[in-house]
Amino acid sequence: MEKYDVVIIGAGPAGLTAAIYASRANLEVLIIEAAVNGGKLSKTYEIENYPGIESISGLELAEQLTKHGQKFGAKLISGEVKKIEDKKVVLSDGREFEAGALIIATGTKERTLDLPRADEFTGRGISYCAVCDGFFYRNKEIAIIGGGNSALEEALYLASLAAKVTIIIRRDVFRADASVIDRVKANEKIEIITKHVPNALVIEDDRISGLQIRNVDTDETMVVPCKGIFPYIGADPCTDFVDPAILDDKGYIIANNDMSTAIEGIYAAGDCIRKDLRQVVTACNDGAIAANSIIKYLKEKA
Ligand code: NAP
Repeated sequence: MEKYDVVIIGAGPAGLTAAIYASRANLEVLIIEAAVNGGKLSKTYEIENYPGIESISGLELAEQLTKHGQKFGAKLISGEVKKIEDKKVVLSDGREFEAGALIIATGTKERTLDLPRADEFTGRGISYCAVCDGFFYRNKEIAIIGGGNSALEEALYLASLAAKVTIIIRRDVFRADASVIDRVKANEKIEIITKHVPNALVIEDDRISGLQIRNVDTDETMVVPCKGIFPYIGADPCTDFVDPAILDDKGYIIANNDMSTAIEGIYAAGDCIRKDLRQVVTACNDGAIAANSIIKYLKEKA
């Protein structure tokens, strides 16, 4: 079994920042990523609140972070963690790695649309990645569900391609940052429908032609004509393999200020921990702190 000083689960901004800090301290570091290096960043059209970089595509920042994360010797592999036994990490393909300390930085996974036939039409009408699939809907009508930062930021991007974007929110207030709301409201291609939730897919000739939505107060329904539906209805932590003893009731990892958890030697960082502000910059912050805490922890144990 391969042994490392630190095994980091997740190669998003938190995990990659932890890798930079830990490997610069000469620790042997392994990063394990189950999906895409860079995490959700790679699906984000534009980042404009990462200090020092006024604007950068999510994919470009993801690529730079992935390169930077490995610059000082950390090893990055692809694999899905099935379980953690003490400080041994077991992957679903059977590989096992022993660690002096672990950082769980697995982020969150987007919630999917809970409508009949939604699974069948995911990838052909329903998409969770505007930057990947937006091009297919140029000059067409698009519906976006949700009123958070993801929904509104991606709506602005999609409005640059589509004929029209309709944002459907279930309350009459957004969750997104004020500046993004202002830009959305000022965009002539974007219509906002409040107090409605998705009710059914409208399908013609085996293709999505609209989204039926329901008024939450009156139960009346109406159809929003659209060829593409982009749900951005929040996300849940990727913590299925984590000991429930360190999870809160929503599945987020409870981490202390130094990113340690109640299990000795297990640290957590980024969007998968219980916290108020989920941003690239706060994920990087967590990753740096987790690595620094582990540097001290391993020194004390030595
Ligand atoms: P979010 O902030 O949780 O917003 C989810 C939205 O979906 C809310 O408008 C919510 O409505 C709605 N919603 C939830 N379940 C629904 C359902 N079943 N049917 C209809 N609507 C539903 O999620 P997010 O936008 O993905 O953001 C996740 C986190 O990442 C946040 O902390 C966010 O700030 C952060 N983020 C930051 C940036 C940035 O800073 N640039 C960019 C993207 C994301 P209610 O409001 O009624 O609950």
